[in-house]
Amino acid sequence: MSPKARREVLATADEGGGPGASGAGDPGARLVAPVVVDGGEEVEEAGLRPRSLTEFVGQAQLVEHLGIVIQAARQRQQPVDHILFAGPPGLGKTSLAGIVATEMGAGLRITSGPVLTRAGDLAALLTDLQDGDVLFIDEIHRLHRSVEEMLYSAMEDAKLDILIGKGPTARSIRLDLPRFTLVGATTRTGLVSGPLRDRFGFVGRLDLYAASDLRAIVERSARILHVEIDEEGATRIAERSRGTPRVANRLLRRVRDFAEVRGNGSVTGTTAAEGLDLFGVDELGLDKVDRAILETLCGRFGGQPIGLTTLAQCVGEETDTIEDAYEPYLLQCGLILRTARGRVPTPRAWAHLGQLPPAGSDPPEAATLFEP
Ligand code: ADP
Repeated sequence: MSPKARREVLATADEGGGPGASGAGDPGARLVAPVVVDGGEEVEEAGLRPRSLTEFVGQAQLVEHLGIVIQAARQRQQPVDHILFAGPPGLGKTSLAGIVATEMGAGLRITSGPVLTRAGDLAALLTDLQDGDVLFIDEIHRLHRSVEEMLYSAMEDAKLDILIGKGPTARSIRLDLPRFTLVGATTRTGLVSGPLRDRFGFVGRLDLYAASDLRAIVERSARILHVEIDEEGATRIAERSRGTPRVANRLLRRVRDFAEVRGNGSVTGTTAAEGLDLFGVDELGLDKVDRAILETLCGRFGGQPIGLTTLAQCVGEETDTIEDAYEPYLLQCGLILRTARGRVPTPRAWAHLGQLPPAGSDPPEAATLFEP
């Protein structure tokens, strides 16, 4: 591997961003951001990552399917088929890529779509792989076109087509690559091109976690971090974690801080609730930005449908951040709806803000609901 390619692989570890990180200027907003907010957090997360399928909590069906795919590949002594993991940030896509590598006894290389700016960057990575390695490409929907095209023959035939020279004297050579497994992750399945999607033999979708799974994740992380926590404490944190393990782990760390400074270090239901209230995370796990979204929809626009761009401008966030980081959870909580005419609040949103919807406003008809 060239020093440059090595630097680029490492660069992804420092990137810690993706959509959502842009709105991370305010510590209050950062607490429930589903993306990694800084390098320190990346390091802390590494210790909490599940290392095997049995340690991976929740997503039962996906774990079962993946277990079969991995075991079958092991029995055939072949690398696992290429895998695409899709789902909102912080749900375990990177962890699963690591698990695939560990369960296969293979090496893991990590990079991300935006880091591979030229086909040569990918070529350097691919030619440096060992037989059976797992190559993880995060945010695969953001791959450069020329890079993506090079990936097609690599995925399909383990060949690399390289063009040497320019103009009439240019010629193409084909290199054999080691057998490898590509694991792609995306927060936007819709943006993964058809030809790329078709080359994955297995697509695993991750859903937001149920509170009971999040509680198990909080309890597991507390054991690893040596935090004393009771069932009530873990439940309070789980309830406010927006269905996202990364958020659950971050809230646990902040509640631990609170318990150490204002209490005796052990986390009970009361300590957790007080700590989270102090940090501006409410009983549903909503933070300032979520509440600003609801207040814009309910207060400023009085329940009228509004477009994503307008909404993003009103709350001072990027449209990507709203779509990737905030909306999935607000939709899951039944606080907002996406309709053909724009985003609208539900009666639950008014209730959460302690307000009443304007007289005569009806929730939108199901027929007008819009799923992208
Ligand atoms: P993604 O790649 O989808 O953004 P990650 O795999 O980086 O998510 O997960 C973020 C953190 O959440 C990990 O460090 C890990 O500690 C935790 N985590 C995610 N999924 C699980 C799970 N199913 N069980 C336990 N911890 C999890």
